[in-house]
Amino acid sequence: MYLKEIKTSGFKSFADKVSINLDNNITCIVGPNGSGKSNIVDAVKWVMGEQSIKTLRGSNSMTDVIFQGSASRHAQNIASVTLVFDNTDSYLKVPYTEISVTRKVYKSGENEYFINNEPCRLKDIQDLFLDSGVGKYAFNIISQGEIAKIISDSPQERRSIIEEAAGVLKYKKRKEEALKKLDRTNENLTRVKDIISELENQIEPLEEQSIKAKEYLKLTTGLEEVEIALLASDITKLNNELKEIEAKKQELESDIASISNSSSKEDIEKETKKQELENINIRLTELNNELLRLTKEEERLNGEKNIIKERSKYDAKDTKVHDNISSLKEKQLIINNKLLSLQTDLDILNNKLLENDKLIIEKKKEIEDNLDNKNSVTSLLYLKQKEITDIEYKIKSLETFIDEGGNTPVSVKKVLTNPRIRGIHNIISKLVDIKEDYALALEIALGGAKDYIVVEDPNTAKEAINYLKENKIGRATFFPLNVIKPRYVDPEIKNELSSLNGFIGILGELVNYEEKYKNIIYNQLGNVLLVDNIDNANIISKKINNRYKIVTITGELINVGGSITGGNFITRSIIGEKRELENLKLKKQTLIQELKQIDNQIASKDLSNKLEQELLSLEKDKQLNLELLSSKKETQVLTKQDYERITLELNNLTDLSNDTLKEEEDRIIVKYYETINIKESIKRNIEELLNKKEEISKTIDELEAKFRLSNNDLREKENDIKDIEIRKAKISVKIDNMLEILSNTYQMTYEHAFANYILEIDEDIARKNVNELRSRIKKLGVVNIASIEEYERVKTRYDFLNNQSNDLEEAIKTLLNIIDGLDKVMKTEFINTFKIVEEEFDKVFKKLFGGGYATLKLTDKEDILNTGVDIVVTPPGKKLSTITLLSGGEKTLTAISLLFAILNIKNIPFCIFDEVEAALDEANVDIFGKFVKKMEDKTQFIIVTHKKKTMEYAKVLYGITMQESGVSKLVSVRLEELK
Ligand code: ATP
Repeated sequence: MYLKEIKTSGFKSFADKVSINLDNNITCIVGPNGSGKSNIVDAVKWVMGEQSIKTLRGSNSMTDVIFQGSASRHAQNIASVTLVFDNTDSYLKVPYTEISVTRKVYKSGENEYFINNEPCRLKDIQDLFLDSGVGKYAFNIISQGEIAKIISDSPQERRSIIEEAAGVLKYKKRKEEALKKLDRTNENLTRVKDIISELENQIEPLEEQSIKAKEYLKLTTGLEEVEIALLASDITKLNNELKEIEAKKQELESDIASISNSSSKEDIEKETKKQELENINIRLTELNNELLRLTKEEERLNGEKNIIKERSKYDAKDTKVHDNISSLKEKQLIINNKLLSLQTDLDILNNKLLENDKLIIEKKKEIEDNLDNKNSVTSLLYLKQKEITDIEYKIKSLETFIDEGGNTPVSVKKVLTNPRIRGIHNIISKLVDIKEDYALALEIALGGAKDYIVVEDPNTAKEAINYLKENKIGRATFFPLNVIKPRYVDPEIKNELSSLNGFIGILGELVNYEEKYKNIIYNQLGNVLLVDNIDNANIISKKINNRYKIVTITGELINVGGSITGGNFITRSIIGEKRELENLKLKKQTLIQELKQIDNQIASKDLSNKLEQELLSLEKDKQLNLELLSSKKETQVLTKQDYERITLELNNLTDLSNDTLKEEEDRIIVKYYETINIKESIKRNIEELLNKKEEISKTIDELEAKFRLSNNDLREKENDIKDIEIRKAKISVKIDNMLEILSNTYQMTYEHAFANYILEIDEDIARKNVNELRSRIKKLGVVNIASIEEYERVKTRYDFLNNQSNDLEEAIKTLLNIIDGLDKVMKTEFINTFKIVEEEFDKVFKKLFGGGYATLKLTDKEDILNTGVDIVVTPPGKKLSTITLLSGGEKTLTAISLLFAILNIKNIPFCIFDEVEAALDEANVDIFGKFVKKMEDKTQFIIVTHKKKTMEYAKVLYGITMQESGVSKLVSVRLEELK
């Protein structure tokens, strides 16, 4: 590699564009003082990355290098220098045979850098030349006066000469970068550790709170499910119980009413009977008085009759006949009386029989009515029983339909029932539930997805698909829980929707499901809108640019994009049938209640036995009366025969006797028997009245007994009603309490709870669970729900920072290892180079001085990385003395010795020396020239000089002049041509 061309423009005194073409050998730049020779050296240094304006002999800023104008020229706005290198030997490890490096500075202070005309950074240029022997720190460009500095520099400053020769600058630079990184990393680590320790103070209590809060949420969720279902079930039962006891109360009230009614009827009857009894008593007194009077009359008439009889005996011709007639007449009268009495009895009996018949007909009618009544209630009972049987059948068939998965395809059913595939949950339609009114909409919205199988993960799906394939059963779609992502309605649109007519909600938010299925449910229903009817659905779809699926309550579907599906629905769905099943179960409960009531009614109203008994006793009465009638009739016939026989006998005797009875006697006898007859009739009347009296008394007693019984019954029933009222009040309080819990704790109505929460476990177990959950929740005490999120946030940050801290510690270790490695390389390279340079220095020194000796010494052998380098020389014939005591020329020669020693051992492509040999005498300049010449093939030399001797060794000579005041010009002179 060598420097092929230096192009300057506006740099220092080179106001115009100047191009210095160079050869790969010795070039001397000559010219008068102040003509601008050193400016060329500055230009090279500047391009190669010099940043110190002092080194470039400026005063303030880098803009000092811009041509500042002269008496005849204006100042420039920009300074630009380009160095062109020949790199055909690939000395620089870049893929170019020619490399141009340009630096520009503008008046504004802005710098620009280019490599091969491509903009780049200053660092890129520094890196390009790093450890190439021609860099900023290299020993190849020695400005005017700098040669002596090598001697006057401190040992520490001097070590950079060895470092550059050893090529460790790149390691040094890397070490510096690594150290900077280490500093930054340590700072970061301290900061991260500070935050970690702060977080550690928070994380422990937060974790405790969060565990407690999670436990609380778990318990309350569990409690909520069971308690709501239990409350709904309890309220339903209590409501049914209320209805039942209300019906019982009504029954009792109607019983009371009918008892009171019959009691008052009986009361009236009792009063009537008492009045009758009173009348009978009056009548009896009258009859007894009459009987007494008639007995007296009978005695008087009997006396009179006997007297007349005695008198007639004396008057009668045939006493015997007379007596007979008289006795027969008496008998005739007695029999006549008997006949009259018999007739009366018969009349009474006939009346009684008529009464008997009437009562029997009435009783039979009553029995018939009762039977009709019983039959109609019984047929109602049968109807209800049939209804229950029908419902039971329907329930059974629905349960079978649901258990067997409804219309689910065979492939899906097979997967669901295959015990070997683990991780199968269920089909979507079985994992979701909704209010009955929306069941059809849900079914339509799900469409084919209702039979998608929810599985734990993709592996389960794979296993199930293999099973379907192997057994050629068909196809199925699987939704792995950990893969499916939820879909939502854009919050802005959601906001807008809530004010639109007919919008009911987002289906995902209206359905019930277990929390773990949320992503699946929202994947299918999170962006489906439920609207009341198709007209509103059309309006809404248009408003949201057909962006989401819309389904109506009646099952019309507007797809994304606007296509509409609708029509009649004939397929049965599990979701719909599940609802139907619950309704039927409820209906069955109600029917069973009704059936019980009818049963009770039948039991309480079955009077047939009693009525049959009453009919039997009426028929017995009639039979007795009939028997009595027939015996009375027999007696009547016999008595009539007696009467006729006596009448015939009397007629015969009357014909035989002429003796006629006195009219008086006849009249008395007739009167006498009339009296007896009347008396008998009164007696019978009295007897009858006494019987009636007894009967009425008995009826009154019976009515009073009945009244007492009814009264007791009434009191019992009234007490029952009171008990029912108390029970009702207690139930109402219980229901109110439960409704209050539903409303206050769960913000829910009973209807909602009943429709959406079904108790699926045994009631006692559920109650036990609720109590247990409640006591566990109570035990938790004060709970901070926000701590869950807070803990997650802090823990995520804590874990992140811990990872970061570990990464940083790891990075520090790596950096320390890198630094350690770099140090080792630098030490080795440095010490090796040092030794070679030290040896070479002595050799060159001896040659330049013609004897003596020189060496280099490390100021601190223990610290190779920081040690300084001392120069110890003894010129020939002199004693070992410190270098500061050397003459100017000796110092220069010593420095040149060191310079050439390095040039000897290291491949340096080019050197620029600015009057380095200025202090040397003629002889030494010649030695210097020879040295340069010797190295001409290895290194390109550009030498600014005033020494003619030096110029003799040059192949090319450039002259710099400043003809026009203040502006440097280039004059090239090929010495070879001159020679
Ligand atoms: P010597 O032989 O005495 O060392 P030289 O040829 O090396 O001299 P330089 O030091 O290269 O001369 O050039 C110095 C000249 O450059 C001065 O005349 C100075 O005014 C001029 N110069 C330096 N910087 C600028 C600048 N920014 N604008 C214009 N001229 C400048």
